[in-house]
Amino acid sequence: MVRSICPATASRLIVDLDALSGNYASLSRKLAPAACGAVVKANAYGLGAVPVVEALQAAGCRLFFTAHLAEALDLMSVVDPTCEIVILNGLDPDCEPVCAEHGFVPALNSMAQIERWRALAIAQGRRLPAALQVDSGMSRLGLTLDDAQALSATAIGDNIDLRLILTHLACADDPCREENRMQRARFEEINRLFPGIPASIANSGAAFLTPDFHLDIARCGIALYGVAPTLAQPGELRSVVRLDARVIQIRDIEVGTGIGYGFDHVARCPMRIATVGIGYADGISRRFAQSGAAWYQKHRLPLVGRISMDSLAIDISGLPDGLLREGGFVELIGPNQPLEAMADAVGTIPYEILTGLGRRHERLYVQNHRSERQSAGAWS
Ligand SMILES: *Cc1c(COP(=O)(O)O)cnc(C)c1O
Repeated sequence: MVRSICPATASRLIVDLDALSGNYASLSRKLAPAACGAVVKANAYGLGAVPVVEALQAAGCRLFFTAHLAEALDLMSVVDPTCEIVILNGLDPDCEPVCAEHGFVPALNSMAQIERWRALAIAQGRRLPAALQVDSGMSRLGLTLDDAQALSATAIGDNIDLRLILTHLACADDPCREENRMQRARFEEINRLFPGIPASIANSGAAFLTPDFHLDIARCGIALYGVAPTLAQPGELRSVVRLDARVIQIRDIEVGTGIGYGFDHVARCPMRIATVGIGYADGISRRFAQSGAAWYQKHRLPLVGRISMDSLAIDISGLPDGLLREGGFVELIGPNQPLEAMADAVGTIPYEILTGLGRRHERLYVQNHRSERQSAGAWS
């Protein structure tokens, strides 16, 4: 069943919520007895945080991670009160009261943040929930090891209800890197000083390292969205995203005709060109013009000329006459051209492609469970 959120038509981002839920189930099985939390920052990696969180909650997920307070606020209407939302980027100055009011769990990343959270707890006469992030070597976010050690000797528990202690790996996507074990060893030294507090080190990459990286709670993002870390078995995760765009004009051109800005491509033979209504403003990198293609059924249709803001050109000379018409849709990301292939082609990572997809696509959510099909009206 397909639910339409916004009425745009030139391109469709199709999100398979069944595949998402299936990936959650696979990751949960792999990680057990550790729990699988879901990272839904950046609008669930561009896929739409609200429907993604709804689907994951229905699949049993109880712990969500955002980067910002504003992202947590966006989820208020959908997140069940039994769930927790951890804000990874920490506690911004002046945001403490809003964070506390909604029961969010800020990752406290510095002594100053801890002090501000503690001061609010004292002022409100209650304990406030928090996670503690420790920098085990990545130099990005979290307490230094020295600060964490010093803190463990103080009475943090009096005012702060410590729910989680976490750190992040710099090289989890590469199982061969010795630094993964080094960071874990540092983190475990700190964990020992906070007995009984659930610990978390694993993102998607580390969920596929040895089980001694799982600890109590994993924080999975990209694997839920169908991008398999290095050590995943083929088929272990299902792809979640498909991106199709509409052919908005077709033309036949003569030898010597230029195509697109700068006439970077000039026809060396008569060609049939289709203009597709998707461009770099929609997350299709201009670098994709060099080697990229769109697909129609099993036909590969090479990009020609530069990518514009709102359109790109493809060579459809090889297609049988009349097979693809104006109004038809071609595949940019999907079974013929996985997200990973597009990322490779433009020299980036699938994360950047997903989070850069932009707002203009019609987002369609596919879900076959009967309960959803029954919720009449919104489903067609
Ligand atoms: C983004 C993020 C994650 C999720 O990483 P994936 O590689 O997408 O699984 C986990 N933890 C932290 C701290 C993050 O910033």
